[in-house]
Amino acid sequence: MEPLELLEKKIARKAARAIHEFSMITEGDRVLVALSGGKDSWTLLNVLLRLRRNSPVKFTVSAATVHPGFPEFDPSPLQKYLSGRGIEYFIERAPLGDIIENHKTPGTSYCAFCARLRRGVLYTFAKREGFTKIALGHHADDLIETLLLAQFFTGEIKSIPPVLLADDGVNVVIRPLCRVFEEEISAYSQVADFPVISCGCPPHRTGAEELNRAKMKKMLSELEKGHHGIKANLLSCLGRVRTRYLMQKNLHILDEGEPCPLKKP
Ligand code: SF4
Repeated sequence: MEPLELLEKKIARKAARAIHEFSMITEGDRVLVALSGGKDSWTLLNVLLRLRRNSPVKFTVSAATVHPGFPEFDPSPLQKYLSGRGIEYFIERAPLGDIIENHKTPGTSYCAFCARLRRGVLYTFAKREGFTKIALGHHADDLIETLLLAQFFTGEIKSIPPVLLADDGVNVVIRPLCRVFEEEISAYSQVADFPVISCGCPPHRTGAEELNRAKMKKMLSELEKGHHGIKANLLSCLGRVRTRYLMQKNLHILDEGEPCPLKKP
């Protein structure tokens, strides 16, 4: 197994590249990491703390967890770990399970709905407390799985953006792990031995979206075994969109003076 320092360095290098590439963090930013207690959010928090120590750009890093109100959810290991390291930490309570039960409609994806609600709670909290960026732990596999899901199941070309101005026009969401693959995060978090906790959801709800995402994950892993680099290529294609070769109508306006290919000379 690779030593912790090496694994962390590799992830930090990719995160630093993404932060620079997409101008995710600027001088004086107060970054709030959404800490669910899973491996992705732990990795994100540690990598941002590491980058902050060596960065010429001054910014702060704090963490917040949305407590969904499930009796099984216990964030105390997170509290203990973070207070021992002097990291500012908040827990925001919201009865997510009840809200989902009362508002779901047939076909609602439980986890997607839950994620939207959690983001809403974080947006309100970040705005109230004056945080300038909200960092989420989505990684490269999330981006490419979402790209395939959109193409296969909704007929669109879209994914998860590295930086997004939220619909409230105030909160800015950043995803510094957008270039890091899940296997790198798994290897790192295993060695780092973070206090990973479960979301405590009563019976694990699995809807069509979760099942389809699992299918994408399996398909990508099989393709990658047969042709190394497929996942990296899919990630790369998100930044190399050749719109002239797609079918979006309003993108096919000919340049001035360019002969119409349909008009006979
Ligand atoms: S398993 Fe339950 S708590 Fe976890 S994301 Fe899905 S809906 Fe939310």
